[in-house]
Formats: sequence, structure tokens, C-alpha cells
Amino acid sequence: MTNILTPAIVILNKLNYSRKLFLLGIIITLTILFLSLLINEQLRQTMARSAIQAEGINHIIAVNNVIKLVQQHRGLSAVDTKESVLFSQLQQKKSQETDRAFYKLMFSLSPDMPRLTDINNLNEHAHEDDIEDLNVLWEKIKSDHGRYSPESEFNAHSILIKQLRTLLTIIADHYFLLTANDLPSYYLTNILLHGIPDTTEFMAQTRGIIVATLSNKALSDSHYHSLVELEAHLKQSTSSLQQDVIKANLYSSNLLDASSYLEFSPEQYQFTSLLHDDIYSKSFNHEPDIIWAEITLQINSLYMLMEDRIAPEILSLVKARQSEATMTFYIAVSVTFSLFLLTLYFMAALSKALINKVAEMNLAITRYSQGDIKVRIPINTQDEMRDISLAVNEMAETINQYRAKLDAESHALLTSIAKEKQSLEQLEEKSLQFISQQDALNHHAIVSITTLEGTISYVNDKFIEISGYPAEALIGSSHSILNSGSQSPAFFKDMSDTISSGKVWHGEIANKTKQGQSYWVSSSIVPYFDRQGKPTQYITISTDISHIKNLELKQREANELLQEEKIHTEEERQKAEKANQAKSEFLSAMSHELKTPLNAVLGFTQLLQNDAQNPLSTVQKESISYILTSGEHLLELVNNILELATIEAGNTALSVEPSKLSDAVDDAVTLVSSLAEKSAVTISLKSEFNVLLDVDISKLKHIITNLLSNAIKYNREQGNVDVKCINLDPQTIKFSVSDTGIGISPENHKNIFAKFDRLDQGLSTISGAGIGLAITKELVEMMGGRIGFDSVEHKGSTFWFELPISKSVASDIPQKNILYIEDNPVNSRLMSAFFNRYDEYALHLAGTAEEGLNRALEHDFDLILMDIHLPEMNGNELTQQLRRLNKYKESPIIAVSAAAMEDDLLLAQGLFNAYLTKPVQMDVLLDLIKKLL
Ligand code: ADP
Repeated sequence: MTNILTPAIVILNKLNYSRKLFLLGIIITLTILFLSLLINEQLRQTMARSAIQAEGINHIIAVNNVIKLVQQHRGLSAVDTKESVLFSQLQQKKSQETDRAFYKLMFSLSPDMPRLTDINNLNEHAHEDDIEDLNVLWEKIKSDHGRYSPESEFNAHSILIKQLRTLLTIIADHYFLLTANDLPSYYLTNILLHGIPDTTEFMAQTRGIIVATLSNKALSDSHYHSLVELEAHLKQSTSSLQQDVIKANLYSSNLLDASSYLEFSPEQYQFTSLLHDDIYSKSFNHEPDIIWAEITLQINSLYMLMEDRIAPEILSLVKARQSEATMTFYIAVSVTFSLFLLTLYFMAALSKALINKVAEMNLAITRYSQGDIKVRIPINTQDEMRDISLAVNEMAETINQYRAKLDAESHALLTSIAKEKQSLEQLEEKSLQFISQQDALNHHAIVSITTLEGTISYVNDKFIEISGYPAEALIGSSHSILNSGSQSPAFFKDMSDTISSGKVWHGEIANKTKQGQSYWVSSSIVPYFDRQGKPTQYITISTDISHIKNLELKQREANELLQEEKIHTEEERQKAEKANQAKSEFLSAMSHELKTPLNAVLGFTQLLQNDAQNPLSTVQKESISYILTSGEHLLELVNNILELATIEAGNTALSVEPSKLSDAVDDAVTLVSSLAEKSAVTISLKSEFNVLLDVDISKLKHIITNLLSNAIKYNREQGNVDVKCINLDPQTIKFSVSDTGIGISPENHKNIFAKFDRLDQGLSTISGAGIGLAITKELVEMMGGRIGFDSVEHKGSTFWFELPISKSVASDIPQKNILYIEDNPVNSRLMSAFFNRYDEYALHLAGTAEEGLNRALEHDFDLILMDIHLPEMNGNELTQQLRRLNKYKESPIIAVSAAAMEDDLLLAQGLFNAYLTKPVQMDVLLDLIKKLL
């Protein structure tokens, strides 16, 4: 079975379900179409046959009519017509009738029906005469009439009748009458073809012989035998006809009264009694013409039965079959169509139901395969798909559970692995640490391990190196091998007591090398314990401290020497201090003593000078002005001395508070302005002085005034004085006063701040006592600052001081000044926008290298951002120049460049603190700046 199905299965397995259904649909549709075509064909055939059959029936009737006429003609021919006018006329009439009927029949027969000749040829018992055709035969009968014996004429008729009977079968065959497929038709056709023709033929033959016998009034032996024979035949055919009629009657109620035609047996035929009463007894009492008419009537009644009953009945059956076929045709068509639609409908529904289901399952299974185990196939059918879906769902559920379990297990596993890994890493780290510690220890320290008994079991390289013994000599021997004998036995006892009690021993030991030299080590002896807490071995870690010991020794010796010196020096110092103080006190007292009379001198001199009532002479006025100038100079000198003395005596009280530098500068400039005017010296303020300093403002004014007045005094005619202040760092300012004056010769540099030293520069014309700078230095230093100067002889000097910026109040200046040298305005704007967000930075921009250099010289920037590709001078060159300047030697400069090739980096090597490539990552830059500042 499977073998037969294999090809179909192979094909079906290659198709998906929708194709399978499609194929099935096509097969069913084709089958329905084929069957409907078949039925259609069958029905059409039936309908066509019915029409043909109807035609055939008419032909049969026509042939029987011819037979009837030929029979009559035969019967009349048997009579000697010369005897009776009636018969003679009748025969003539019959001859004409037969003629007409015969030719009408021959003309109406279908030309493609087999010709009678063929039948003849087939017939073995054909008549001796060579009859070519029925009409030839008929023509022959007519022309032979009266020429031969009545018997031979009779026989010729009978042959024609026989031929006509054969024609009947041919017609029946040709017009499908014999194939009629229902019983009534069969019986009726049988009556038509055999029952009635047989019976009438026997009757007609009998009629012929009877009429001839009666006409001749003589019965020949042959006639007698024929009659007896015919009577028997007639009897038999009548009963068989009766049977057929009864059978047909069973199916066709229309024939009911047809039986009345047959309500006779051969015995009932009139001529039967005639035969027995008259003919066989040779009485011959009956008139032949009357008997002719009677028998003919009886024969005709049978033909009437044929024409009026049997033939119409067959026709009506044919008609009924025809309409039945038409009906069936319509039903078949509509049923086929309905079936076709129904098939289509169910195919479509099935396809949808099945395909949908399969698609659902397919989708679910695909998603399972992709790992989505949560999907379930919906259960909405009652078929095998439901069972499969349930099974798949259940499977998914199981997988889901397993997966969850697996997940949990693997999670636990992963966690434990992670933990293991972590502890492994820790272990590894620890061991690495340990190794490096050990390594470090080995590099630095002298390490040995001893057993509990004091035998050396391990020494490191340092140990070997310092002891001078080879490892073989050390391992296995006792530590006493190194004993220098410098330490007492009590020292070693303390050591062994400490370590054997499980404690760590620290101490310094003097050892002896193999060569006998002694060396000092600082040692820690650490006992190592087993799990039970029992010491198992001792590890000794020592450091060579021989050089420290030597130093200690030397120091001790030096200390002893120093001690002696010290006593001596202290005495000297105290003496000097006392002398200094005495000098200060003396100076102070002297100043007071001098100031009082000096004030009186000056006061009275001024009175004299301004006395309007007693005006002085010109000479006197000149003298008075000298007294005044000298007096004022003397007073200044005394004041200065007084101040210096106060400072040196440590009596100066400062009132320090946050003060504006600009205030001190303004006041000092105002104070010296008349002096500057006199000397035609221009004072220029070269920067803002907007900074708060923690100072005593009056002292600061004093300092600045001193510097300014010196710069004016020791300047040239028309000279300049530049005053400047810069931020050295966030905590300090540097204030400077530069002049274009005589300068200071290098040999005088060291004495510049010395008291009462005017440097012997031939300055007799310039007033001064040589203590202004000494006071200034003292004051600057008292306020936590530093003072200094740079000077070139005949060119000018710059005196400067540094002071701390006040921390109490934030200054207005941003804490960090950053200069960005960049020619691309977009980049500059970007950087500005970025730095605007940070109050702690102020970004300054320079568009060219030259501008950048000038700005960097003018101001001290905390940091410089340098573009590399600048026109005229590139960033590398500019940075090289800046690096040559003191203030930018170390300060941070960051390269910001689009050039990031290896060559570019090579050129910039060593110049920058960092090298950033464009586009700059702002967060990286900010981190860098924070780190650098
Ligand atoms: P004084 O000015 O009263 O002489 P100072 O202590 O102020 O005393 O100055 C000491 C000396 O230093 C001066 O005599 C002068 O020779 C020199 N000195 C001071 N300032 C300058 C200066 N700006 N240029 C040149 N020499 C100066």
C-alpha cells in the first residue's frame, strides 16, 4: 500500500499545506467536472438516441404497413383472380397501395443504413434468384404475376416479407431500438419486431391458403400440411404475443385495454373453426371473399394494435426518457455546480483553518527556537492540531521550567565563580604584593632564617655580601659565627628570652665579617608560628647601620667641641645685642634732644623770614633760606634716624589690615609730585593697583614715597619714572619703581640697603642721609615682604618689593589668567564661551604671535594656550622665546593644535606641558588646567 502511495507522498511532502489543499481542491474539482461532463455526454446521448428511436419506431410502423400490404397482395395472388372480379380489383388496388407504401418507405429510410443487398449476401439461404434489392424483388413479383404457379408466386412474396422482416431488425438496430434500456420498451419493441409480425405472418399465410382453397374448392395435400403447420405456429406465436403484452402491461398501464385485442386464442380465431368444420372436411361451403374480409379484419386488428397502442406507447416512453434526461441534465448541472461551489467553499475554509493553525504553530515554534519560550499556541480547534498544540505548549512549559531552573543554577554557579575569581585575584594580588615586598625587602634588608635551635637555614644575598661568608658556610651554622664580642652575654639572653616567648625583638647588634671587620646592623627578629601557635622558626631582618654609627661617633665628637665654643659665642652675642640696644636708645634720646631745639630753630627762622614789619635784607634772606633748608634736612634726618631707631629697638607697632595698594600709590605720587615737577621728571603709572594687601597703610605709603623720591632724586633731567604692579602668583604682588637715572655701580650693590651709606657717588648736591632704603627694607620685611633692585649704571634702576595679597577679601581680579594665542576667530570665540562659565579663570585672547608675545610680556599669565599654526611665527618658536623668559620658564604652556602628526609632536617635544589636538575635548582641557595650576 505504502509503495503505491510513495510517489504521491513524495510530491505532497514537497508542498506546504496551502499547496496540498490547493492540489486536493484541483483534483476534486477536476473529478466533478469530469463526472459532470460524462453525465452530460451520457444524457445528451440518451436524448439524441430518444429522438433517433422515435424516428426508428415510425420506420418500423411503415415497414409493417408494407409487410401488411405485401401479405394482402400475396394472399390475393394465391387466388385465381380470373374467377372473381372482386379479387381481381382488390389485387390491383393492393398492388398500387403496396407500390406507394413501398417507395415511400424506401425513400424515407436513412441512406447510411445498411443496404438490403448486403444482408442478402450474408444470408446463406438467400433466394436462388439473384435479388439485388428489395424494390427489384418487388418489381419482379409484380412482373412475374400470373406467369408462374401460385405456389411459386406465394413463395416469392414470402421471401420479400422475410426480407422486410430482416429490414425491421436492421432498422431496430440502426435506430437503437434493441438497446432500449428499460423493460417496458424491451417488451414493447419485441412485440413490434417479433410478436405482431410473426402472428400476422402466420395468419396472413393461413388466410392466403384458405382463400385459395375455398376459391378452388379443393385442398391439396401440401396445403393441408401447410395449414396444420401454420395453425400450430399461429397458436405458439399468439400465446407468446399474449405473454409479451401481459409483461409490457405490468409496466405500462396505458396498455391495459390493449389486452382486449388479444382476448383470443388461435382457437377463437374464426378461421380456426372454419378450418376444422369446412376446409379439413372438404365441404368448402364458405365464400372466399367473405372469409378474406373476416381474416383480414382480424389481421388488421393486430396491426392496429401495433399502430395505435404499441408504437405510441414506445414513443411516449421514449419521450418520457427524453424529458427525464433533460431533467436529469439540469439537475446534474446544478448539482455539479453546487458541489463545485461547496468544494471551493470548504477548501477555502479548510485552507484557512488549517493554514492559520499551522502558521500559528509555526510562529510559536520559530519563536521557541529563537529562545522565546513564553509564547503559547492558542487552543481553538477540536482536531489533531489541538493535540499537537497542547503537546507543544506543554513541551514549552517544561523547557521553560528547566530553563528557569538552569538559569538559577547557572546564576548561582556564576556568582560562586565570580566570588572564587575575586578571592583568587585577591590572593594573586596579595601574593604579588608579597613577592614585591619580599623583593623590596631583599634589596634593602639583610634577611636570615634560623631554626628554634639557632641554626641558620636561609640567608639572602645581602647577608652573604655583608658577612663575607659564602652561603654554604652560613647555612647550618649558628649566628654566633658573626659574634664580634662587643655585646654582653646578658644582651643575647634578653634577645633569646624575648623571641622564645613569641615576641618580636628589636635591637642593634655589632657583628664581625669573615675578614674580621666589625659592622653594625639594626635587627628585628620575628618568631613564626604554626597553626597551634607554637614558634617554628625565627626570621631576622636587619639593616646595615654602620655608616650611621660612624656618623654618630663623629657627631658626638663635634658636639663636644661645639659645647665649648658655644658658651663663648653666646656671651659675645649678648654683648653685641646690648651694645646695639644701647646705641638705639642713645640715638632715640639724641633725636628727641635734637628735635626740640631744631623745631625752635626752624620756627623762629620762619618767623624771621616772614616778618613783614622788620623785613630782611636780600643777603639776610638768602642766609635765612639756607638755615631753613639745612634745618629741614636736619629734621628729616633726625626723623629718619628716630624711625630707624624705633624699628631696630623693636618698638614699631604696625596696624595691619587689608588695604588698597592704589590708595598708597595715589598718596605717595601726590607727595612727591612737586619734587618731580622741580626735577622735570615724569611719573607714569603702568598698571592698575587694584589689589588688597595685608599691610599698615601708612608704612606702605612711606615705602612707596621713599622709592619714588629716590627715583626722582637720582634721575636725570627730563627723566621718567615707571610705576608697575604685577601678580607674581595668586598670593603675591610685585611692585616696582623704575627710573632712567644714574644707576648704581656693581661694587655699590651690596651696600645699597646699609645705613648711612650714600654710596659715595658724588651726590653732595642731592639731599639725603643714606637711611631711606634701610628703613624701607625694614618696613617691607616687617610686613612679610621682600625688597630688591636691578640697576645698570648710567641707565637707571628698578627698585621693587613683593608683598602678600590679602586673603580676607577676594580680589576683583580673577584668580587665574589664561592667555589663548589663536589666529582662528571661531576657535577663540569657542574657547571664550567655554571659559565664561568658570569664574575662577579669565581668558585673554591674542590673534597673532606678536600680539601674544607682547601680552605675555606685559602681564604675567598663569597659563598659556598656544595654537601651533600661527602666521609669521609658529607656536613652537613663540614658545621657545617665552621659555627663555624667566617668568615663563616653568609656567604651564599647553599646545592646542590641529597638527597631530609624529613630526609635529617631535618638533614640540619638551616645549609644552601638554599637547592637545583639535577639536579640543573641553573636559580634558579643564582637567589638565586644574592639574597644572
Ligand atoms: P639718601 O637717598 O638719603 O641718600 P637712601 O638710603 O635713600 O639715602 O639711598 C642710599 C643711596 O643709594 C643713595 O645715597 C644713592 O647713592 C643710592 N640710591 C638710592 N636710590 C637710588 C636710585 N634710584 N638711583 C641711583 N642711586 C640710588
